[in-house]
Amino acid sequence: MDLYEYQGKQFFATYGIPVSPGEAVRTVDEAVAAAERIGYPVVVKAQVQVGGRGKAGGIKLADDVHQVRTHSEAILGMDIKGHTVEVVWIELASDIAEEYYASFTLDRSAKQHLGMLSAQGGVEIEAVAESDPDALAKIWIDPVDGLTEEAARAWVAAAKLNPDATEGTVDILRKLYTAYTEGDADLTEINPLILTPTGAVHALDAKVTLDGNSVFRHPDYEQYEATQVRDEREQAAHEKGLQYVGLEGYVGVIANGAGLAMSTVDIVNQVGGKPANFLDIGGGANADVMAGALEVITNDPNVRSIFINIFGGITKGDEVANGIVTALGRVDITVPIVIRLDGTNADAGRAILEPHLSAKLQLAPTMVEAAEAVVAAAGARS
Ligand code: GDP
Ligand code: MN
Repeated sequence: MDLYEYQGKQFFATYGIPVSPGEAVRTVDEAVAAAERIGYPVVVKAQVQVGGRGKAGGIKLADDVHQVRTHSEAILGMDIKGHTVEVVWIELASDIAEEYYASFTLDRSAKQHLGMLSAQGGVEIEAVAESDPDALAKIWIDPVDGLTEEAARAWVAAAKLNPDATEGTVDILRKLYTAYTEGDADLTEINPLILTPTGAVHALDAKVTLDGNSVFRHPDYEQYEATQVRDEREQAAHEKGLQYVGLEGYVGVIANGAGLAMSTVDIVNQVGGKPANFLDIGGGANADVMAGALEVITNDPNVRSIFINIFGGITKGDEVANGIVTALGRVDITVPIVIRLDGTNADAGRAILEPHLSAKLQLAPTMVEAAEAVVAAAGARS
């Protein structure tokens, strides 16, 4: 779950990380009113979930009410890398002495948290990592130990920040780590973290990705869920409670269980096809769930054939087969479907499907054969 900058800053503020005062608005008049309340100069910042807004003209300083009007008029509705600006964040402008970079993320291969800090902030960190890898001070943190003050201090020293920034940065890094762990984030990034001419350190930007599976622990995250930018297909699937990820290909995939769904995506690739999606219908493969899944998949104009891959465990093959038959009666499907049904009560399930089979609805005995059949059914068009 990706947050907008203004949401990230609100999230940071709840952990005591200093951010500039500001307001999120949707119209020019609201922008002007907000600036008048905040006081000048302000920065007008486009709220889109993509980096490099500054370069794209989505961030402008405004010294007075006229400039706020001009800039917010230009920025609201602007297209930044395919994202339309619907919200601008008006914040009190900061004086900048230096710009740094700080982030926490998970290093899966090290099985530890990874902190990155650099005295070269405000630019794309990938560029720094490439041109001057030594400018990026990394720290691996054992989640059991956490980030001690001592370790944070040594890390800041390694990054060679201005000594004036040391205290403020140590404090912010420890709070950012707490926000990252207690907040169940996958990423917390500040770029730039600034040192002001008066020696204060604070976050000028916020990039936060929260773990969508942690919403049950953080009821207030529902506000972030509500503003998620989803692909149209993903939005429809989400509304039906399906675990769906849109992909670029043309073979629709339905499977029960995330592991089987991933294997299905893999095997479609392996036999030379391109999956259109990942879709896990979970354990309850009844007619409603199956119909919902088929609707989501057939609404994708790229889909040319559908692979239903079910392994009955607790879910019984005959119940799944009845679900498929009922769902097919409800959803109008024009593309061919290949079903592989195995596991508990698979024979009974296949017997139920038998009378419905045709060139448009095939049953394949194994996963590989089903994959080959479904890719062939999609045709040679690419
Ligand atoms: P991004 O381009 O999408 O990463 O947006 P940022 O929020 O990081 O802003 C980009 C750049 O704009 C920063 O690196 C700063 O140089 C500049 N900037 C942003 N806010 C201020 C501000 O309050 N004062 C000044 N002087 N510059 C700012
Ligand atoms: Mn930035």
